[in-house]
Amino acid sequence: MSLTAHPDLTLLAILVAGLAVGTVLGRWTVRRPRAAAPPDPDCHDQLETLARAREASEQANGELKQALDQMEQAAGTDRLTGAWNRRRFEDGAIQLMALSSRRGDALSLILLDLDRFKRVNDTFGHGVGDAVLKSVAGTVRDQLRASDAFVRWGGEEFIVLCPATTLAGATILAEKIRRAVEAQSIPQVGMVTISLGVAQHQNAEALDAWVTRADGALYRAKVRGRNRTEASLEMVETHGDESPSILALIWDPALECGNPEIDHQHQQLYHLSNSLLASITSGRYPEDAKLQMQLLIAHVAQHFHDEEAILARTGYPALAVHAKEHNRLIAQAKLLQKDMGGVSTDLPALLNFLALDLVKGHLMAWDRRFFKHLAES
Ligand code: GH3
Ligand code: MG
Ligand code: MG
Repeated sequence: MSLTAHPDLTLLAILVAGLAVGTVLGRWTVRRPRAAAPPDPDCHDQLETLARAREASEQANGELKQALDQMEQAAGTDRLTGAWNRRRFEDGAIQLMALSSRRGDALSLILLDLDRFKRVNDTFGHGVGDAVLKSVAGTVRDQLRASDAFVRWGGEEFIVLCPATTLAGATILAEKIRRAVEAQSIPQVGMVTISLGVAQHQNAEALDAWVTRADGALYRAKVRGRNRTEASLEMVETHGDESPSILALIWDPALECGNPEIDHQHQQLYHLSNSLLASITSGRYPEDAKLQMQLLIAHVAQHFHDEEAILARTGYPALAVHAKEHNRLIAQAKLLQKDMGGVSTDLPALLNFLALDLVKGHLMAWDRRFFKHLAES
């Protein structure tokens, strides 16, 4: 990190020494006028010398104060961008985590990383690279609330810490930041983009585990093409007196068809359904439930598309009717999602859809019909 304290300490040592000398000389000048005025002209010269020394001591005093202010700043902020440094973030985040779990407030963070930044350095030089970092940092900061903290996590990675913000709120902010960075044109370089990972802090989760989840989401944003935002939807396992979600779909290994892609996507479907149910039954974050519903529908649509491609490749004879059933389910999910736009969520209708239509009706009945076909193909 940029906290190389040696030059500052050297400067401080010189200033302290200067102040010490100056203070002694200063005392002399204070005492001197009390003595009787000497008629001697040499004495007049001495007085002038002492006055100059006093001036110098006052200047040194001011400089010392300035240096101390700077050092205080340097202890918590990054010199290039003015963002909080890692140490200040760690202290601040731990306090906010305690506060948010006491008050039941949401707390989220956004981890962002410049895309292909090495190329900027390689093409234009490190100095221009630094200017880009500074400029992007300024743009990000312009999008934030006063209560958000902006942190240089290291290199070309930054964190935005958002108190009283749910996953959905932080995802919206992340997209706003992404668009603002993309819209900015930097002298010499032009457009730069960033990728972002968002994670909401979950009860009793350690700071590094929380950042690791955001990092996982950021990694997904990178592999899915960069200049995009991904949110972490993993539910952290809770220990101790935390009661498990009362509503959860439990994966049954008998639902595995043997095709790794289909099996993985089916399990993800359970996972996303459970995140959605946990979000709704906790009743704390209605905005999150809407976002999770969006993600579930996006996943189901992608899964149906991929499953149909696999079935087409393997010549599944009942593909047309299977695809028709897929379309019916997507239409039904979209209808439910429309209802969720309102104030309350129709939990029974949602459960009915997830448990009966999607899992029991589709995965357990319709999909089983192609198991034999896939095993033989
Ligand atoms: P990706 O899209 O995968 O993130 O690609 P990338 O090139 O941004 O990622 P990579 O991690 O390969 O490179 C990061 C670069 O950021 C390499 C490093 O030299 C540069 N960098 C890190 N800190 C600074 C800095 O303070 N100033 C400058 N100019 N460059 C920095
Ligand atoms: Mg990086
Ligand atoms: Mg990068």
